[in-house]
Amino acid sequence: YTAKRRHGGVSGYDPSMDHSDTDRLTLQSELRRGIERGELVVLYQPKVDVTTRLPCGAEALVRWQHPARGLLSPDVFIPLAEDSGLIDLVTVEVLDQALAQIRRWEDLGHELPVSVNIPARSLTDATFPGVVDAALVQHGVRPGLLTLEITESAMIADLLRAGETLNELRKLGVKISIDDFGTGYSSIAHLRDMPPHELKIDRSFVMKMSENSRDESIVRAVVDLAKNLRLRVVAEGVETESALRTLGDLGCHEAQGYHISRPVPAAELTDWLSKSDIAISAA
Ligand code: C2E
Ligand code: MG
Ligand code: MG
Ligand code: MG
Repeated sequence: YTAKRRHGGVSGYDPSMDHSDTDRLTLQSELRRGIERGELVVLYQPKVDVTTRLPCGAEALVRWQHPARGLLSPDVFIPLAEDSGLIDLVTVEVLDQALAQIRRWEDLGHELPVSVNIPARSLTDATFPGVVDAALVQHGVRPGLLTLEITESAMIADLLRAGETLNELRKLGVKISIDDFGTGYSSIAHLRDMPPHELKIDRSFVMKMSENSRDESIVRAVVDLAKNLRLRVVAEGVETESALRTLGDLGCHEAQGYHISRPVPAAELTDWLSKSDIAISAA
């Protein structure tokens, strides 16, 4: 039953396509080999301080440079990796590349905090804090320069265990951010039971803020919630000058999005950092 799909235009590679089991298995085994061969590429999307508009951090975003299918988006292979357990290899690889990059930036005189995406499931793995600690030591990076953005794409089965892991990570000194806040399985109860350092407002609320007053109300509410809890708050999906201004009015701390920059290779961000008394202009 796979024949139809297998000949049905693999090059177009639509992530929303319902892949057959065979396709998924093929891609999974290719991913394992791809990781070993160094095919994962990490891009960096800068964040700016909303008030000064100067760069204040970056998010590490993975891509897969597939030898035949081209540059694949994480939306294509992260879900596959999560289903197969390969996600741990992806996490370690991205963490390693991101820490090496923080180190390089520090050596150039730029102290830039970097965020790495972590599936919530890693929090049920008791060995995870040790992995992070070892990587920090190996690269000689101060823990405070690393933020872990936790995404909940599924319910965390063992909340008690997750809480313990989070505590150990906090003790290491790394920062914890709740990614895509307001969507999926992220819950306000977690802010009480497992307090993070930062909330990241999902881009679906931020992108249409200026057209949709309900979206703006939600963003305002999340910014207020974060500030009342003394948390940092970041808006992602900032695509327009007007959104950036609104975020300033609402008192949001940090902004990330295409209006500021797309995800770019590290070298491109280095160029910006070296001219980094240059704020993005209020066009
Ligand atoms: P995310 O962590 O919420 O990352 C933000 C996504 O929004 C990125 O997509 C980014 O390119 C995109 N984005 C940024 N600014 C804008 C904007 O102004 N407008 C729009 N429309 N989009 C914007 P990307 O890089 O395709 O990553 C998608 C998701 O894949 C991420 O969402 C994250 O959940 C996951 N992901 C990416 N890298 C990793 C990784 O290394 N490990 C894991 N586990 N997941 C990752
Ligand atoms: Mg993220
Ligand atoms: Mg996000
Ligand atoms: Mg997301």
